[in-house]
Amino acid sequence: MKIQFKISSRRQFIKSLCVFCASGFTPLWNINFKNKPENEFGKEPVSPDAEQFVPSFLNLHKEGELRKRGKILWDIMKSCRLCPRECGVNRIEGEEGFCHASSNLEIASFHPHFGEERSLVGKGGSGTIFFSNCGLRCVFCINWEISQGSEGSVNNISDLADMMLQLQKRGCHNINVVTPTHYSAHIVLALDIAAGKGLRLPVVYNTCGWERPEILEILDGIVDIYLPDFKYSDGKIAAKYSSEAETYPELTKAALLEMHRQVGKAQPAKDGLIRRGLMIRHLVMPNNIGGTKEVMKWIAENLPKDTYVNIMSQYRPMYKAFDFPEISKPISREEYRQAIIWAEQAGLTNLDIQGWYRE
Ligand code: SF4
Repeated sequence: MKIQFKISSRRQFIKSLCVFCASGFTPLWNINFKNKPENEFGKEPVSPDAEQFVPSFLNLHKEGELRKRGKILWDIMKSCRLCPRECGVNRIEGEEGFCHASSNLEIASFHPHFGEERSLVGKGGSGTIFFSNCGLRCVFCINWEISQGSEGSVNNISDLADMMLQLQKRGCHNINVVTPTHYSAHIVLALDIAAGKGLRLPVVYNTCGWERPEILEILDGIVDIYLPDFKYSDGKIAAKYSSEAETYPELTKAALLEMHRQVGKAQPAKDGLIRRGLMIRHLVMPNNIGGTKEVMKWIAENLPKDTYVNIMSQYRPMYKAFDFPEISKPISREEYRQAIIWAEQAGLTNLDIQGWYRE
């Protein structure tokens, strides 16, 4: 995939270079850039926060532990239990589980993404890698062609490492692995290769939230930012819209606690970017299908009140949602307003709320 470079950013860089030199500071060419995060175009100055950041996986890579963890995850695929489906198929032998993934690594796209949370996007974008297939398989999935329609192509683990390094070169602020669970082994092994070649960005584990805590424990010290959904508070609802995943609320709650134990609260650095912590997403659904009040109450009662929670308004009926009249329409302003009220009543203080709501 070819990634477009923005000319306006290059102009901006040259302009800032002139201002910088004219102001009497050390000329840029006298600064030693050795060991600084690589940015192919130099289009944005690297912030001191980015310079000082050391990703969690780096020490594990140096100790040889990252490769070991990747191997452990790989071996789990022999009787796959990487996600709560626990299919038990031998993916190494080419069998496919409920997620439709074998050991072949299928990737739909990778690119700087500017539609994620502001604290992940910054100026350079979030370096997203969209993996094909999914173990949850929701009827309203906005990315259903990728998650359930087998869109994507087969890549090897070195390709994945190269993608990570390319995203870093393009000036992205993180590596954002989207729907990563069924390819967690591939991701960790690729990180090990990329770390050896200079990858120094935080890893964002962008998941549906329905995770086995035992698998998350293997990722301890590898992931810097957990970005899970918390979609439903009711197991029967989860089963109805997400392929019989009745354990969704119970397992997601356990997963959120484990994620928080590993990375703590998400707090932006001085440059406004988050490089470590738990960032929860909740999509407000029509007719309160997600059980927003209970979701907010649980977060407030079981995690710090200032846990980052993005209350998302962008629900649109997609894919098979039209087979269910109750979710075959966008949410109303009133439904979104009510969700915010529930979150505030629960005592949550670090809400990411859609801009239009504030106007
Ligand atoms: S990752 Fe896929 S094969 Fe493995 S348990 Fe989950 S659905 Fe089954």
